[in-house]
Amino acid sequence: MYQRIVGITGARQSANEDAPTARGGGINFRIMCALLKCGLALLVLTWAIPAPAQKRRVRKEPPRLPVHVTLPHDSTARFFRLRIISTNDFHGALDPVAEAGGTPRGGADAMAATIARASADCGPPNCGTLLVDAGDLFQGSAASNLAFGAPVVALYNRLGYAATAIGNHEFDWGIDTLRARMREARFGILAANVRNRNGRPPSWARDDTILDRGTLRIGIIGVIGPETYHSIMPARVRGLRFDDPAPIIDSLARLLRARGVDAVIVLAHSGAFCDDGGATACHGEAIELAHRLTEPVNAIISGHTHTRVDTRVDRVPIVQALSSGRAVAVLDLAIAPTAARDSVLSQAVLDANTTGDPPAAADSIVRAADARVAGLERRPVARLAAPLVRAGSQYPLGNMIADAQRWAGKADVAAVNNGGIRQDLPAGQVTWGALFAVQPFGNSLRRLTVPGRALRHYLATVVPTHGAPRSHVSGVTLTFDRGRGRAHLASVRLANGAELRDDARYTIVLNDFMATGSEGRILTEAATADETLASDDLEVLVAYLSSRPQPVAAPNDTRIRISQP
Ligand SMILES: [Zn+2]
Repeated sequence: MYQRIVGITGARQSANEDAPTARGGGINFRIMCALLKCGLALLVLTWAIPAPAQKRRVRKEPPRLPVHVTLPHDSTARFFRLRIISTNDFHGALDPVAEAGGTPRGGADAMAATIARASADCGPPNCGTLLVDAGDLFQGSAASNLAFGAPVVALYNRLGYAATAIGNHEFDWGIDTLRARMREARFGILAANVRNRNGRPPSWARDDTILDRGTLRIGIIGVIGPETYHSIMPARVRGLRFDDPAPIIDSLARLLRARGVDAVIVLAHSGAFCDDGGATACHGEAIELAHRLTEPVNAIISGHTHTRVDTRVDRVPIVQALSSGRAVAVLDLAIAPTAARDSVLSQAVLDANTTGDPPAAADSIVRAADARVAGLERRPVARLAAPLVRAGSQYPLGNMIADAQRWAGKADVAAVNNGGIRQDLPAGQVTWGALFAVQPFGNSLRRLTVPGRALRHYLATVVPTHGAPRSHVSGVTLTFDRGRGRAHLASVRLANGAELRDDARYTIVLNDFMATGSEGRILTEAATADETLASDDLEVLVAYLSSRPQPVAAPNDTRIRISQP
């Protein structure tokens, strides 16, 4: 028998550490919305965050378990087995998320149970675990979002995470909120390639961290993929840039090795796509990054694309484990103190499940976070005639959201970005919580009055030169011609059947993420009126669905046609 320790220098995973289950009452939605809108985040944070005593314990070791640790001694072992257990894109999924078929998967309990199982047979002196995450901890559920991610940091502290990369959604509530979460975290949220406009790192950004495992020192570097920059609301990253991570990793890896680390692990909020099993035909930002590194690194933990990646590039293992706690990657490396690059003993991306274990590690945090929003989450809003699944680039759920926004703004046209539609909906009763998961960002809606010419110019960007439509529209039918490969907007027909006139004026509703993006500028710069609607995107969707005849049937008409020559 021996004592398992998860995260040797980090926080222990132990059911004994469970704080008494806090049971907050249901929160008042109106007050919460008012707080969210006024940006009085601090009031909410004070209410939601753990006691400040935890803040200063970053480096302090929690009291050790009994020292009488007996281990099966392997006298033949010439290397140290480093077990890297990794997750990514948790997205506030304290509770399991419903997949398209309605089956709930992932969530904190399944993730915690799978992490515990993965670390069960790894302990000193020959094996040590390192629990890490490749970013996007936040954004996605009411239980997490209404407390601005604080329950996720509490969960990661409890599970003993050693470090995470910063993800694009870590910026969603602004830098001040991110810094508040960083202060609570007993792990580094690493952002080595985030720079101020002048090229200097922001005061809050940390490049790397060194952790001890057995007799070895492990260096961890965290970066964010530059491609993700454009998926963040411009106002949230004003004054910041995401530099090319490859030379930054190279130079930090050199410095870490000079400081005596035995292994370098890269956490990259940078995506990849592979064939089904995650091993073959891999491409994407994380794969390109691996090819471009010149300094040896021992592993790359990828994130952002919510995919299964379980591959190697130039002998360097690269893993990504879906999202929302639905999978956990486990990588065993043989680390020999003298070797620059060491061998991979095993590599797997495991589907996460609780296997019926009592979910001790995560339980009290999840229940407390859920209790605060339970009344609101379970509130029935409407009934749906059929499940609404995000399949392809045009689907009834997207049409319905665009219709809701056009209805709310009494506008001629509405457009909603596909990237902002985050979950499917099951048939039957739909709760406020389910709609929250579809539109979790709390985006405000803008109603712009624009000349027809500018509207046409903007709508032409809905279908990129190559590729599928990026948005859903309401109030118009767009016909694109794809002669010679390029998409060209041939016609814009309005709801009344008339063709759009360049010299007439029209109103369009779109969210502030779209309005402040580069294409949105086509509209905002030409607008003769620019109003913000009183309700945000979620409130509009809730109001729209509850006002429709029940059950609601989502519109399945084709609004964006692409004719091939
Ligand atoms: Zn991301």
